[in-house]
Amino acid sequence: MSRVGGIEAGGTKFVCAVGTHPDDLDVAEFPTTTPDETIHRTVEFFKQRPPVSAIGIGSFGPIDPNPGSATYGYITATPKLAWRNFDFAGAIRHALGVSVAFDTDVNTAALGESRWGAAQGLDTFLYMTVGTGIGGGSLVNGQLMHGLTHPEMGHIWVPHDWEKDPFKGCCPYHGDCLEGLANGSSFRARWGQPGESLPDDHPAWELEAHYLGYGLTNLICTLSPQKVVIGGGVMRRAQLYPMIQAKVAALLNGYAQVPEIVPPRLGARAGVSGAIALALSL
Ligand code: ZN
Repeated sequence: MSRVGGIEAGGTKFVCAVGTHPDDLDVAEFPTTTPDETIHRTVEFFKQRPPVSAIGIGSFGPIDPNPGSATYGYITATPKLAWRNFDFAGAIRHALGVSVAFDTDVNTAALGESRWGAAQGLDTFLYMTVGTGIGGGSLVNGQLMHGLTHPEMGHIWVPHDWEKDPFKGCCPYHGDCLEGLANGSSFRARWGQPGESLPDDHPAWELEAHYLGYGLTNLICTLSPQKVVIGGGVMRRAQLYPMIQAKVAALLNGYAQVPEIVPPRLGARAGVSGAIALALSL
């Protein structure tokens, strides 16, 4: 099988890899700074290695994933202003002269988990990430979901009890959407310290499971996934999995079957492995 390239472009870091499978990847990571600097480092990474036949990009967004559109391959309305309306796929294609496949970071991670990870053999499942942002990618009947652009599963609304939780939310677009209430940044904004430094018995975790449970229940009722895979930095707190599972079961209340909620089997390599899978699909 030919070696391909993968780029997991996150809001805080880029992960680049070449290889054919999660087990044979040559990987490098660096912080996401300006487009000029970050793309330069990305291109240098690939130029320093034997040529690849194609590159898959899983990008933070919103993006334009429609191959028929004039702005296909662009990052569009991101709050990261320097990246707004940036022709990401075009910059990589022109610099390296290879075919480029482009999708959201979460759709790409879903593809990786489908091909090599916790969702092998399933045709309808949900991948969610809870980190700097909250996002979801989904395979439905064996296909990654696209539409007008792509799903934005983190920017849904969940019940917000302002008396119990007066935090106004930190989404720059919506305030207290799910991402605004439950992403990684919400911990410092609400509790004065990052999630990593809070003990297991801090009420922050119960509140986190509460909001994620509501969000997932909405998505489970909409998509009927056979399994839910949740990754991202916040989910390194493993106690969240049974707490979210219990919350979802309580909300569904015996009406609908509760899917298993598990970590990505590819761990922190789900995204870049998915980018490799995306390149292999060309
Ligand atoms: Zn939002």
